[in-house]
Amino acid sequence: MMTSQNRLPQLRKDAITGRWVVFSPARAKRPSDFKSKAPATASDHRGRCPFCSGNEHMCAPQIFRVPPDPSSDWKIRVIENLYPALDRNLKDADFDGGGGGGGGDADVLRGFGFHDVVIETPDHSVHLSDLSPREVGDVILAYKKRVEQLLTFDSIKYVQVFKNHGASAGASLSHSHSQIIALPIVPSNVSARIECLREHFHQTGKCCLCEVPSNELLIDESAHFVSFVPFVASSPFEIWIVPRDHSPHFHELDDNKAADLGGLLKLMLRKISIQLNDPPFNFMIQTSPVHTSVSELGSTHWYLQIVPQLTIVAGFEVATGCHINPVFPEEAAKVLREVHVQM
Ligand code: AMP
Ligand code: ZN
Ligand code: ZN
Repeated sequence: MMTSQNRLPQLRKDAITGRWVVFSPARAKRPSDFKSKAPATASDHRGRCPFCSGNEHMCAPQIFRVPPDPSSDWKIRVIENLYPALDRNLKDADFDGGGGGGGGDADVLRGFGFHDVVIETPDHSVHLSDLSPREVGDVILAYKKRVEQLLTFDSIKYVQVFKNHGASAGASLSHSHSQIIALPIVPSNVSARIECLREHFHQTGKCCLCEVPSNELLIDESAHFVSFVPFVASSPFEIWIVPRDHSPHFHELDDNKAADLGGLLKLMLRKISIQLNDPPFNFMIQTSPVHTSVSELGSTHWYLQIVPQLTIVAGFEVATGCHINPVFPEEAAKVLREVHVQM
């Protein structure tokens, strides 16, 4: 196999996002040296941290906890965000006539929506990847439960589950947590993805996420999920965990599949931590819109995307939407496939 050093640059177009990525090995070190220089290890703010057990009074109101029985200690809490991006009390997201000029023909909606926080553990020093596969599965089931609650609001059109780990991945608090934002619109990245998958389905009769990736891109597999580096990864060591079953919505997964996904997610997080020196990362659940006229959701397929934050998005990427990735996906997959992890 060619190494980064002797491969020529290549442009690849992603069939799922419709975006071009420039693979530019000349800009990289060897993939195995591609370690984070600023590991995301938490500084310890125990005592002042609102997400620690005992500091519940410092938090915005709780939505639910796991287990629900208050006579035992909580393991997971889903709470309102104290500084929400959207306002849950606005009731709906009608057009906002009071926007006050200057918008021209722009659409303006009242900022209705939900912004919640999922506290993944009561213990400040524990990361998501330190939990057992079953406990990571319980966090995934907490996401599912909250998504299902949010879908009861007719004007919610898309629910984004995401995690920021480490300051340069956007985390402001080090205690292990993730977030859920429910929007009254379908974001353009989401509609572009749905449209690309629909077009691919119509042209080929196949869903590109149902197809098993080549062995060169594969990292690991479980009973119900496959993890691999996408052929057009926009970031080095980006990982997708894709359900084997064709399903448009994350919230359709059952308890058994959630536990299985918990194991594979833990494994992937441990692998990037070992190989890339505990890098800052984001993960996102890429699901499909709800209560919307977006046509033919039947050709869409949800997945979980993990993006270690090892490069800086700068002028070129902002201008063009086209990322430069210094590590070829086949080489990133090899580095992640070959590391042995003690679970
Ligand atoms: P991040 O910025 O990704 O670390 O996510 C932490 C989130 O927690 C932010 O969106 C904050 O607005 C939110 N937050 C901070 N303090 C509190 C608190 N005491 N109760 C509820 N949410 C909080
Ligand atoms: Zn804490
Ligand atoms: Zn599919």
